[in-house]
Amino acid sequence: MSRNPDCIFCKIAAGGIPSTKLLETEEALAFMDIGPLAPGHVLLIPKEHYETLDVMPAEQAAAMLSHLPSLVRAVQAATGCEGINVLQNNGAIAGQLVPHVHFHVIPRDPGGTFTFNWPAGAYEDGQMDTLADAIRKEL
Ligand code: AMP
Ligand code: ZN
Repeated sequence: MSRNPDCIFCKIAAGGIPSTKLLETEEALAFMDIGPLAPGHVLLIPKEHYETLDVMPAEQAAAMLSHLPSLVRAVQAATGCEGINVLQNNGAIAGQLVPHVHFHVIPRDPGGTFTFNWPAGAYEDGQMDTLADAIRKEL
């Protein structure tokens, strides 16, 4: 198991610093976020240290993400929230503060303080297809 001794989520995964754990398997851990965007905000992480999602092997990502539906259901049932956002910040520019892959499960209710902009844009002629070709080539 590769861990980073300076990483706070590796320390949590190793039990070196306390957390309020929700589920734990060989590959994954879910625990309460200590700075919740809404009550019931939880985090799902791989136990192995990967800074960002793009460097995770697919099998490890699949093992971790297999717990996501049940976690979402549990948060929804326990909080009675109306909706849920699943969020994964990948890179500092995207708001990632802790450089160890994690998925946020965030309850949403009317009047909640967590909101975000969704400034949908539009493509110029041909731009979408050009980008789609470029992305397909990378897959
Ligand atoms: P991000 O900005 O996506 O990197 O989110 C990092 C998240 O980790 C934030 O929501 C923090 O509240 C949460 N966090 C940081 N340290 C801890 C900790 N020791 N236990 C639980 N959650 C933490
Ligand atoms: Zn780590």
